[in-house]
Amino acid sequence: MSFEIKDIVEENMCIGCGLCVSESQSSSMVWNESGFLVPDTTKKFSEDAIKLCPFNPEPEADVFDEDKLANLYLPNSKNRDDRIGRYESTYIGYSNQFRKTSSSGGIATFIFEQLLEQKIVDHLFVVKEVAGTYKYQWFDNIKEIKNMSKTRYIPVTLERLFREIDGKEGKVAVSGVACFVKAIRLKQYYYPQYRDKIPFIVGIICGGFKSKFFTDYLTQKSGIEGDYKNQEYRIKDKDSLASDYSFGAYDKNNNFHQLKMRNVGDMWGTGLFKANACDFCDDVTTELADISLGDAWLPEYKKDGLGNSIIITRNTIANELIEKGKLANLLTIDVVSKEKIIQSQKGSFTHRQDSIFFRKKIAGVKLKKRIKFKKKIKLSYKLVQVSRRMVRRKSLAIWKLNKNASIFNKKMKYYLFILKVATKINHKIRK
Ligand SMILES: Cc1cc2nc3c(=O)[nH]c(=O)nc-3n(C[C@H](O)[C@H](O)[C@H](O)COP(=O)(O)OP(=O)(O)OC[C@H]3O[C@@H](n4cnc5c(N)ncnc54)[C@H](O)[C@@H]3O)c2cc1C
Ligand code: SF4
Ligand code: SF4
Repeated sequence: MSFEIKDIVEENMCIGCGLCVSESQSSSMVWNESGFLVPDTTKKFSEDAIKLCPFNPEPEADVFDEDKLANLYLPNSKNRDDRIGRYESTYIGYSNQFRKTSSSGGIATFIFEQLLEQKIVDHLFVVKEVAGTYKYQWFDNIKEIKNMSKTRYIPVTLERLFREIDGKEGKVAVSGVACFVKAIRLKQYYYPQYRDKIPFIVGIICGGFKSKFFTDYLTQKSGIEGDYKNQEYRIKDKDSLASDYSFGAYDKNNNFHQLKMRNVGDMWGTGLFKANACDFCDDVTTELADISLGDAWLPEYKKDGLGNSIIITRNTIANELIEKGKLANLLTIDVVSKEKIIQSQKGSFTHRQDSIFFRKKIAGVKLKKRIKFKKKIKLSYKLVQVSRRMVRRKSLAIWKLNKNASIFNKKMKYYLFILKVATKINHKIRK
């Protein structure tokens, strides 16, 4: 069977990267009823559009999976690891200048600043505030580089990248989560002129994409009724743990409302408001980027409320940027073992890689995944997986119907309880 973009969207496997839209004269990304961006499939796409889709069930042999793509884009990396992919070096630390105003260690902002300053690229295509919300934007103002810092957990799309890139003089660097980076690599494979045009991709390590409902829920919980703007997802508390951050947003009268994330419980491990496609993604550390950045969720770093980044350099350019930054005292970083990096994302590896084949089976998903992750998992962990999938699905369905945080909490209680019990049993058996 031949798949089309319409099939990806109808089977709920679209993550909203927007790459297929560059293969259509008239389609654009639109909000669906579950709070995600998807392509308008009433419009026509070229036959090749599906080839750019990171969730294409029938990719060609040379670009079959992340390992094949890494052969093409990172052929000279010194090291390789089944879990984190190809790499040069692994570090943990922060940017002395940008950490305070960034989500974790401010390394993404540092790298983008260096890319512009050293004229490795002329433009950035990054997620940035626009009219009170966040979208991918063109950006090249090095003096205002802090304007593009911070993580935004709201659906964004690369839709404009390949529609506008030919009009940009010079080279471009992009930030992206793993599936977005994969989509860019696929585009570069089929349109080789974009390999030189985009010489550097900053990979944002990603544990899952949240629906817009996630932000709607948090703003209500923070006390805002109705419209909101300029939401902040990671307000740090330097006197507490790195994981003890707050959410905040402005209401329509410009009053800022804030909410400690610990007061809403575990929003990440439970799968609340998460995209379905994320359950079929095994790339934990954004393996196809030139550098991958995430949070150092490790006991020895968690104590530092300002945050630290894990850093995986995957080629020599990335490695030099980091090493020179360290030498020039712009970065405070330590070389760490790959095991430390893996430990910092332990939950994500266990969920995403170890149990992906089980999820594929229970969901009847045709997508082929890397066979190296095919594992037998315990019955107790299977129950966790089934419950998590249920929580994910129910959270979107319940919010869609009610759009009210109190009703949502009441209706989700039962499903979250089941997940909690399954998780407890699994932890007991694991010991
Ligand atoms: C959806 C999502 C899920 C994540 N899940 C995890 C996780 O499970 N584990 C983990 O360790 N880290 C995760 N992160 C990454 C983490 O939140 C930080 O973004 C990362 O550590 C970089 O921090 P920094 O201080 O170096 O970035 P900063 O210096 O603050 O810069 C942030 C950069 O990220 C870009 N950006 C912001 N939002 C997005 C977006 N939605 N998509 C693409 N680029 C964006 C900005 O353009 C900017 O360049 C996630 C990020 C996102 C967007
Ligand atoms: S994942 Fe990307 S390429 Fe695939 S259908 Fe969705 S927007 Fe299009
Ligand atoms: S978990 Fe995977 S599929 Fe989901 S947004 Fe992150 S990189 Fe994309």
